[in-house]
Amino acid sequence: MELQQFTEHCFAFTGAVTIGYCVKRGKGLLIDSGLDDSAMKKVIRKLESEKMPLDYCIITHAHADHFGGAHYLKKKWGIEMFAPKLEKSIMESPILEPIYLFNGAVPIKELRNKFLEGQAVEIDGEIVTGENKIGPFTFEVIDLPGHSYSQAGLLIDDILYAADSYFGSAMLKKHVIPFIVDADQTLRSLEKLLHISCKGAIPGHGHFEEDISYTVKENIELHNDRMNSLLAMVIDSPNGQTIDHIMREYLDLHMITVSNVGQWLLYRTSVTAYLTSLERKKLLSFLIEGNELIVKPL
Ligand SMILES: [Zn+2]
Repeated sequence: MELQQFTEHCFAFTGAVTIGYCVKRGKGLLIDSGLDDSAMKKVIRKLESEKMPLDYCIITHAHADHFGGAHYLKKKWGIEMFAPKLEKSIMESPILEPIYLFNGAVPIKELRNKFLEGQAVEIDGEIVTGENKIGPFTFEVIDLPGHSYSQAGLLIDDILYAADSYFGSAMLKKHVIPFIVDADQTLRSLEKLLHISCKGAIPGHGHFEEDISYTVKENIELHNDRMNSLLAMVIDSPNGQTIDHIMREYLDLHMITVSNVGQWLLYRTSVTAYLTSLERKKLLSFLIEGNELIVKPL
């Protein structure tokens, strides 16, 4: 974990997950809190060694790798927590993620791990679209839904902390099928990123870049490719296929070998999000045939 400085006020701890940091008039603000206590301990150690303050933390979205360390920050250091409304509800009742991944039923034990269910944390305040003020920090909250339900990007001092609205090139290649809950929102958020003027941006997973347009366009292209290959697969079976069948064929097509239930459910959410987008465009429909949920081309 390395502390990188972008402007007088803006920094980030970089590594597997970006943890933003801003300092102004003797107050410190963290953006996201990493996966767990140990990530936060490293951050605190570094801030202490540099004599830098920490007072507030904003969580961009309720995925465990971004909020899992918040509980420790709040309990041990009394840091004030902020998040967008819907994401706040999930962080306060984090079993909601394994629940939604498991079709709404009470999840099997295997899904109740720190990667899918971060530690619950009480959020003190909500951040809203547009200008927000926390202590000496004035910043703009930009709605960037699609990867999660109400993910927020933060524009502070002309630096954009973009959360998981886009992935760095290497991450994009690694994920093959990135996690999304809504493909149309994901694409709209990516288009929005192309029109934000800033001195530079950093995603939740990837490097800081002054000009993100190339990387964002790579993300757009990837989602369009993923959607097109899925549509081609659906069209190939005029009588329709079950989601399970589509899943197997689609994962095979992208040479993905899934090793556990959680990972498969994450992929299924993305595939469902693409299918839903195609359904909105009236290219396919969901229906029940012979007691099976079938996806059929139109
Ligand atoms: Zn995420």
